[in-house]
Amino acid sequence: MVIVGAGVMGCSLAYHLARMGLRDIVVLDRGDIGRGATLACAGGVRAQFSTEINIRIGMEAKRMLRGFEKEIEDVRWLEPKQAATLVGGLEVTDLTGAVFCPSDGLAGPSEVTFGYADAARRFGVTIHENVPVTEFLIRGDRIEGVITPRGELQSERTVICAGPWAGQLGELTGIEIPVIPSKRNVFVSGALPAITPRTPMTIDFHTSFYFHPEGEGVLFGMSDPDQAPGFDVTVDWAFLDRIAGVARHRWPPLLEAPVKTAWAGLYELTPDSQPLVGPLPNRPGAWIAAGFSGHGFMMAPVIGRWLAEWMIRGQPAVDLAAFAPDRFAAGPSEPERNVV
Ligand SMILES: Cc1cc2nc3c(=O)[nH]c(=O)nc-3n(C[C@H](O)[C@H](O)[C@H](O)COP(=O)(O)OP(=O)(O)OC[C@H]3O[C@@H](n4cnc5c(N)ncnc54)[C@H](O)[C@@H]3O)c2cc1C
Repeated sequence: MVIVGAGVMGCSLAYHLARMGLRDIVVLDRGDIGRGATLACAGGVRAQFSTEINIRIGMEAKRMLRGFEKEIEDVRWLEPKQAATLVGGLEVTDLTGAVFCPSDGLAGPSEVTFGYADAARRFGVTIHENVPVTEFLIRGDRIEGVITPRGELQSERTVICAGPWAGQLGELTGIEIPVIPSKRNVFVSGALPAITPRTPMTIDFHTSFYFHPEGEGVLFGMSDPDQAPGFDVTVDWAFLDRIAGVARHRWPPLLEAPVKTAWAGLYELTPDSQPLVGPLPNRPGAWIAAGFSGHGFMMAPVIGRWLAEWMIRGQPAVDLAAFAPDRFAAGPSEPERNVV
């Protein structure tokens, strides 16, 4: 088994496959482990989605990430005043309500990725860093392995876990993989009295402005609807002004925050903001787990395990038709609307 990509998804899949007894698993990454989209990830873990499958994944991810002892609490409806109590400084006069899930929270993207990578290695997985896949070994329609600058590797099954670069891998297989890279900026401030460790990750879904406590300060960001697709990850400092405009209306304390640092990473967008998980159409031997559209970190524990079970047992434990890589040919699909 070859897995292309050692981000959180590839590492989770490798770990779950190995843990279930599969041997001879190799993970290849063109760079270092966890340096793709995972490096930029803000670490949010949530069950607040618009589609049933993603709500289920969110719930299961939290259970797996936190070793859940207690029952998952359902998402609660809050009156605007209650939301303002929970998030100091939140402007709620124009809101009819808010939703809150006490067990939503944060986890460390690097910690989870390296946790899986290390555990996968303990189960016998080999991970080669700095080995890009430049071509696939293709016989007829069948993918029989990969070609790298260090040589060829034959495999019965090859899984594309290449995050925002999945479309490029698709080109190499001759199949269109509709994953569009799209830059997202993340900013982090120094100490800010308005935020406490108990302030929940807060999302203004109309604008996608979000923030959560980070050290003594706040981590925040927002999607830019005008962002052109591409692989550029230069921080767009001017975008701070756009965020400030939204914060002035929704959470004015942010305007006092001394911005300390920033980074940018790539979302991996699909047409319906749902991932592509399963066998690639018309390319036997090739599978994919990519296109997570900005929530792949929290999905990685669950998708890694479900996909591993599917590949080993021959069918998924849960119906993953919503994520079928060939679903767009069949007509409109149900999009996930709660994308930040
Ligand atoms: C700013 C930002 C904030 C985010 N916040 C959240 C959040 O709060 N919660 C959440 O759940 N998700 C969040 N996400 C999304 C999350 O980071 C991604 O969905 C997730 O990390 C995807 O993991 P992955 O393993 O599929 O992709 P990646 O981590 O990108 O891994 C793909 C790997 O494939 C490798 N690769 C690519 N091409 C090749 C090749 N040809 N050969 C070999 N290797 C190759 C890359 O080097 C990379 O390491 C955020 C993303 C960004 C950018």
